[in-house]
Amino acid sequence: MIIDCHTHNNPRPGVPSIVDVSGRGDFVFGQEVMFSVGIHPKYITDDWEGALIEVAKAAAHSNCVAIGECGLDKFADAPLSLQEKVLESQIVLARDFAKPLIIHCVRLYSYVIHLLRKRSFQNPVVFHGYNGNPDTTAQLLKMPNVYFSFSESTFATPETSGAKSLPLIPVSRILTETDCDSTADLSITIQKIAEKKQIEASSLQQSIYENFMRIIGDKQAH
Ligand SMILES: [Zn+2]
Repeated sequence: MIIDCHTHNNPRPGVPSIVDVSGRGDFVFGQEVMFSVGIHPKYITDDWEGALIEVAKAAAHSNCVAIGECGLDKFADAPLSLQEKVLESQIVLARDFAKPLIIHCVRLYSYVIHLLRKRSFQNPVVFHGYNGNPDTTAQLLKMPNVYFSFSESTFATPETSGAKSLPLIPVSRILTETDCDSTADLSITIQKIAEKKQIEASSLQQSIYENFMRIIGDKQAH
């Protein structure tokens, strides 16, 4: 079974998905959809503490399976010190709710690693749209419970840092996602990862599904 560990669109039929509902006023919390909620570093406002209260309320819902996407972005408007404060608050929130984190990170991986360590975060951490270089990947692999999620954009040309890192990443740490792309074909993404890893696409697909189930824990995939 194909999974989509991070999407801003509604789930596709038969594809277990984690829908990021942050900022989606149309989302109905009562429906049987697994979701994540968080404050994206590009959308930090002056009232981020108010936004954090809303995130905490949504996180209490039984279908909330992760906090995020949250993280650090070199190109976001908010100063890094504020981005760090907002991320650290969400790391604490995820820890308190015993939920995984879905991390958005652009060129600030060492800062994210520092905050995760500072707060001794032990739950799964998914680096979505992963595009770290092999050195960064080696650093991240030293941490427990880190996962790397790839999308169609991983395989853009010229070769991305994320694609270059794939040979280093164990199959047990790989996930797939569509993010904002409502037309992305996840089976093509799986095929391309499999080629890079020189393994069978069908066994990779099964491993990715198992990784996904491990992350969401006792939640039923639907
Ligand atoms: Zn996203």
